[in-house]
Amino acid sequence: MPTLEELDRALPDHPVLMLVGQGGPSATNTPGKKFLESKGVAVDAQGGIATGKGGANPSVDALDALRAIQTFEDQKRGTLDVMAYSLSVGLVTHGDQSGSWPAVRYEFGPNRGKPAPWKDLVEVTAGTAQSFDPWTSYDAVLELHRQGKLAVRLRLFFSSKDETMDLPYLTQRLNNQFPDFGDDWIRVSGMGENISGGDKSKPNPLYEKAAGLVAAYGWGHNQHGQGPEDEREITAAWERVNAKTPIAGLRWCLAHVANIERETVERLKAIGAGVCPNGAGRAPLRMLVDSGIHVAFGGDGAGAGPINPWVHMQYMVTGKTASGQVQKGQALTRLEALRLYTLGSAWFSKDENDLGSIEVGKYGDLAVLSDDFLDPARVPDDAIRRISSVLTIVDGKIVHDTGVLKTK
Ligand SMILES: [Zn+2]
Repeated sequence: MPTLEELDRALPDHPVLMLVGQGGPSATNTPGKKFLESKGVAVDAQGGIATGKGGANPSVDALDALRAIQTFEDQKRGTLDVMAYSLSVGLVTHGDQSGSWPAVRYEFGPNRGKPAPWKDLVEVTAGTAQSFDPWTSYDAVLELHRQGKLAVRLRLFFSSKDETMDLPYLTQRLNNQFPDFGDDWIRVSGMGENISGGDKSKPNPLYEKAAGLVAAYGWGHNQHGQGPEDEREITAAWERVNAKTPIAGLRWCLAHVANIERETVERLKAIGAGVCPNGAGRAPLRMLVDSGIHVAFGGDGAGAGPINPWVHMQYMVTGKTASGQVQKGQALTRLEALRLYTLGSAWFSKDENDLGSIEVGKYGDLAVLSDDFLDPARVPDDAIRRISSVLTIVDGKIVHDTGVLKTK
């Protein structure tokens, strides 16, 4: 982490907070230290802010101090900033899996201020950077969409972790939201990456009921898994759901698939489901691609990994993670890595006829890269992560242009 002095040199006038991962530790500069200390956040002399220990987390307190002064205009500006960055690295569509619910204790809307009933019904979090208010967090992107200012496409998945067998929040979403509803820019694509609380490494009747409902209502689904036990149990639940409601047309995806076993992959493939080894460093990519199952790849959200696809593409091609670990025998060719990120991902939001490849009849979305990704002589393996876009076009319009390409 940079020190207070280094941050002061880079940004002397504006307060800054740099956060590691979702819940710190974090660092700030002198104006930031002054602001955060006035809000009761402990900042050390070097500008360091501690992470969670025994229930308290000064880094989350710092985030909350910023959230308290963030305006709706700030949210829109921040959204545009992240979209501009995304276009600068050639990424034109995001699958949004929302996030964990914050530990909000009070109702919104007409019952504002009353103790929230959901605190005993749904899993909430300690409010880290990935916490996501399921009622208000879409407002900024919806407003930008109404204003015609969206520059990247969004495919939304709704996440919730009901804790009780009547699944009140999942049921409300299913009863009140149309699946696959929206337009080319924002569309509702599924439920996930969680649809119930509870341990998924054992038979979980709560999860199985939730998955059964999602299938019966005809929705897409993406489910987070933690390792081989989760993967086996979730697959078994999907098989039982599939016996009642075939899921092959619904584009279900088991996410992360760390160390997934070949047998589990074959079982998923047999019921028409796929895998999304998003952001994971332990998914057997070679085995997954060779199995013929549907595979997507993505960065897993800015709270979990870099947005920049080229960092991930370097990992997929070399098998080497950011910490230097090498996964032997699981590397992909460059074209395979590109396909997982594009056409592979498009399948899971039913966009394969409109997105994912440059073809007549598809949307006019493309990126002109800074160098030839497919040519190792021009871009050696360890330089893949430095690729960017010099010109990005979405819906036939130039939305990012470094000026390298000249028009006559
Ligand atoms: Zn996940």
